[in-house]
Amino acid sequence: MTYDDMYRWSTDDPEGFWAEQARRIDWHVPPQRTLEYERPPFRRWFVGGQTNLCHNAVDRHLDERPDQLALVGVSTETGLTRELTYRVLHREVNVFAQVLCNLGVGKGDRVVIYMPHTVEAAVAMLACARLGAIHSVVFGGFASHNLALRIDDAKPCVLICADAGMRSGKVIPYKPLVDAALEESRFPPQHVLVVNRRLDPAVPMTRGRDVDFSVARAGCEDADVPVTWLESNEPSYILYTSGTTGKPKGVQRDVGGYAVALALSMQTVYDVGPGQVMFSTSDIGWVVGHSYNVYGPLIVGATSILYEGLPTAPDPGIWWKICADYGVRTLFSSPTAIRVLKKQDVTWLKRHDLSALSWLFLAGEPLDEPTAAWIESALGKPVIDNYWQTETGWPVLTLQPGLDLKPVKLGSPGLPNLGYRLRVIDEMTGNDAAPNEKGVLVIEPPLPPGCMTTVWGNDDRFLASYFSHFKELLYSSLDWAVRDDDGYTFILGRTDDVINVAGHRLGTREIEESVASHPGVAEAAVVGVHDEVKGQVPVVFATLKPGDGSVATSASEMGQRVVEQLGGVARPARIYVVNALPKTRSGKLLRRSLQALAEQRDPGDLSTLDDPGALDEIRQALERGPDAG
Ligand code: ATP
Ligand code: MG
Repeated sequence: MTYDDMYRWSTDDPEGFWAEQARRIDWHVPPQRTLEYERPPFRRWFVGGQTNLCHNAVDRHLDERPDQLALVGVSTETGLTRELTYRVLHREVNVFAQVLCNLGVGKGDRVVIYMPHTVEAAVAMLACARLGAIHSVVFGGFASHNLALRIDDAKPCVLICADAGMRSGKVIPYKPLVDAALEESRFPPQHVLVVNRRLDPAVPMTRGRDVDFSVARAGCEDADVPVTWLESNEPSYILYTSGTTGKPKGVQRDVGGYAVALALSMQTVYDVGPGQVMFSTSDIGWVVGHSYNVYGPLIVGATSILYEGLPTAPDPGIWWKICADYGVRTLFSSPTAIRVLKKQDVTWLKRHDLSALSWLFLAGEPLDEPTAAWIESALGKPVIDNYWQTETGWPVLTLQPGLDLKPVKLGSPGLPNLGYRLRVIDEMTGNDAAPNEKGVLVIEPPLPPGCMTTVWGNDDRFLASYFSHFKELLYSSLDWAVRDDDGYTFILGRTDDVINVAGHRLGTREIEESVASHPGVAEAAVVGVHDEVKGQVPVVFATLKPGDGSVATSASEMGQRVVEQLGGVARPARIYVVNALPKTRSGKLLRRSLQALAEQRDPGDLSTLDDPGALDEIRQALERGPDAG
């Protein structure tokens, strides 16, 4: 079937469509009803069906592909590679599940996982799923305060951590961070299970509370832990959003709907099937890691690669080497990572045999045209922009090479994914925006399978955050978008990234693109800063490409460009040239902190900040004064 046919089916007859898709996974008890939608916007998919994520990801492949690789963990930090076949994965998951079981973990209990991007972390997730326990993976780069906030929200009975992670060759002890988080937390778990990688020889252990996994597993090597079957709509996991715009929300996911959506997308979007190899460079701490490092590839019997390390070490060819070594068919990464590689010599890409590689997907932030064009010509393979959110669990906008690849339009993540009824709504009137007119991207409920079911423990926050913006009951993505005449959607930034200059509403992304169109500019961030007269004015922070142009000239040219392209109302009040911009560990610009600093306020929660030096850089620039404006 073509994309057009599939999409029409999915929106004209959602129940028929999804009933058919449900056959992609194993059910212990088949669903009795495909959709229940009596209490909008809350919906239940595959009602009465009983299934389990671990069974679908592991057990069901044992007969057909026991000796095929399931998970491969490559670490250029420790220098170790771990290859787990489905048979070995099954064994490891059973052992891990038995250890958890012995610590009292059972159905519905929460387990926080705070680990580096390793095979062991994926095994821990699958073990929780096997027991019907609800995992909440917290990105290993977060500091103890952030961990404590998530612990207090999820109230876990066990926390699983590693002794340490590594970054750029430096050992980063995790356990002291966990201890500090438990100290701060109001609902600390009873037990901490430490997966000791022997990186930190001095890992502190608290008697009675902390358990060394390598000791605990001794009596469990032959364990056979039965799968706990869950009703399709029971929670499988909680994952907190990145917190780019504020307090992170605990996204709750179901079991059956999620498994079905992943199985479908593995074929239609990512074009990866049984025995084929997918490599996602995300981290298990993010949603892409959950969906396309762990559950998606395993549910369809593919091989998934987990990479721990920098994209540039030991050399900038490492990802392409991994692609060649394992015959990767689909690579999934982020624009930030590609921008890092773009600074390197393109020959790194040419040294490896990439003949098996078919598709590169990029997600997480706007994919700018220069980056897309560079990687596409360097690779000679299609580059597909993917738009989605932690909340949705799988792509909202994408092209579907597994069906038929529609033409790529640079700057657009493409067309609605199967099952998504998308609209662009004019924020003022609440009516549909005309083609080529800007509005807010919304999903018409019921949300398709795979998307969040609620905010953990807080239905009101789910309604208030996502469904209370318009006169109709619509899920707001909180992102600006415009749809062209062919139905391609372009994302224009977040709705809270808006500057209101004397009553004119300007998107920060538009001004950023205008600034970045200056040939000397590497990257730009624009924020709205309070102004007595105009309400807000745009303030620009930009980094320059290496070169010998004068900073002051470049800065004043940036300002001119904005005025030429967007008009005088968008004229930046101040332009600061800096060496680095503050970003989260997942590569998103921390505009909220930039804005706070520019308004002489506290920059707020900085635990997601990647490089603390970037903020000092901004502080110094503000003290020094603008380079133009
Ligand atoms: P929080 O919601 O806590 O502030 P966050 O929105 O950064 O955090 P994520 O769910 O990781 O957390 O990110 C989703 C957001 O990332 C989208 O809403 C959108 O703003 C941006 N995004 C993701 N993919 C793309 C893309 N392909 N193009 C443009 N923007 C994207
Ligand atoms: Mg968000």
